[in-house]
Amino acid sequence: MTNTTYGPITAKLIEIRNSTLSQEKKRQLGRQLYRAYMKSPEWQAKRDAFLRSGVPQSKKCYMCGTPFKEGFHVHHLNYTNLGDEPFEDLMVLCPAHHLNVHHHHEQRKHKVGRPGITGANLRTSTRKTRIKMKYSAAKQDLTKRGVFGKKRRMLLKYIRNKIELKAHEEIPGGDKLPGRLRRFKSKQSRKGNKRNMAMPGRGR
Ligand SMILES: [Zn+2]
Ligand SMILES: [Zn+2]
Repeated sequence: MTNTTYGPITAKLIEIRNSTLSQEKKRQLGRQLYRAYMKSPEWQAKRDAFLRSGVPQSKKCYMCGTPFKEGFHVHHLNYTNLGDEPFEDLMVLCPAHHLNVHHHHEQRKHKVGRPGITGANLRTSTRKTRIKMKYSAAKQDLTKRGVFGKKRRMLLKYIRNKIELKAHEEIPGGDKLPGRLRRFKSKQSRKGNKRNMAMPGRGR
């Protein structure tokens, strides 16, 4: 724990989070405070600090890579630390892709709960949105290059694993790395970098 002095909303959020109230009650109070927090000077300050921080996920939309500009959103990967969120919980998204992520999240909400201090976790939805985008770009690329049939299927299987593994590394947590990807990872590290397959849209 740090000695940071929190503003009233953050202090209240932390108080509720640490209280012995029921999960449902925490969620309900959290939802009310969430709206207040989004309008508060505390969030404004946190948001500004994040955007000035220079961390990679503060510079461009994580989905499409468009550099940050006015009107872009700062998205929470995790509401558990609301009010006291580390930069790792935040990322820049353009409005369209922010909508995508939350739409995806809504569809799986029965599994992950609602926004609120008891911790809706958007890591999985955010990661899956990214995987979907990258994968469809890779497919388009193969089509453009005229790669079809068996070669295409083999390449796509490899590319899919590669994209998923990278997304899991960039957005850890939320759920476990599937066995398929664990096996892929150890196979890749055994192989080393010997086989350097062309991977479309590979940044950084
Ligand atoms: Zn975008
Ligand atoms: Zn969001």
